[in-house]
Amino acid sequence: MRVPEATSPDCKCSEGAITVEHVLMKCSKWSAEREELITPLHTTSVKEVLTSKAGGRAAIKMIQRTKILEQFKAMVEQEEGRTTKDREEEEEGSEEEIE
Ligand SMILES: [Zn+2]
Repeated sequence: MRVPEATSPDCKCSEGAITVEHVLMKCSKWSAEREELITPLHTTSVKEVLTSKAGGRAAIKMIQRTKILEQFKAMVEQEEGRTTKDREEEEEGSEEEIE
């Protein structure tokens, strides 16, 4: 039996693999974004961030600047039980805010 390749490449900060939790909560590369978007949520739990509406939006903004967007989407859908339709609507609405 083969284990699917689900490992993430190492983050450029070399503090760990580039995962949702790493980028949102730990990575030193994104400390400015974290302070702006995640710190106001007053939680150190990546699950709490992703399962709250405000946290989800903050996380999306952060993740859009990284290369783990696809991984993040899958995780949010798992946590919130969201549909593909919801996701597409949110993407449409948030596109203007990118850059
Ligand atoms: Zn990092």
